[in-house]
Amino acid sequence: MFVSDILAEKGGLVYTVSPGTTVSHISRQLSTRRIGSVLVVDRLDRLAGIVSERDIVNAVATHGAPALELDASEVMTRNVVTCDPDDSIDQVMETMTQGRFRHLPVVRHGELLGLVSIGDVVKARIAETQHEAEALRAYIVAG
Ligand code: AMP
Repeated sequence: MFVSDILAEKGGLVYTVSPGTTVSHISRQLSTRRIGSVLVVDRLDRLAGIVSERDIVNAVATHGAPALELDASEVMTRNVVTCDPDDSIDQVMETMTQGRFRHLPVVRHGELLGLVSIGDVVKARIAETQHEAEALRAYIVAG
């Protein structure tokens, strides 16, 4: 199973904000949309960073309540690791485990195609394991 299979099911919708969006606004977006991160894009729609729940917790721990008035550019992670639609589920699990993060934007030729979360990856892995088990059961019964 590949990243492209996950995108085929969930679609390519990605929530993005500009670098000047406040932490307060991003927090509301994460809450109302029930998501764990937003991507930060510049005026040319280029990926500039990612802000996840973790970054907001860190900012509040460091600055207290004034953290809510900080801009995305002040709390985001700039070196965003991405994946390709042809990457396997195992590859992205490895990347997330090594990098200790739960979100991976999907990019090809500089174009943002979607985002996979650890929840998407676990769901796909479970489906794959169930298919394998069913195939094995059918093989045993047939034999
Ligand atoms: P997460 O586990 O995704 O909530 O993120 C934990 C930390 O890793 C936060 O500081 C995020 O900004 C950062 N992060 C999340 N996804 C990525 C990614 N794909 N590349 C680089 N950093 C990331």
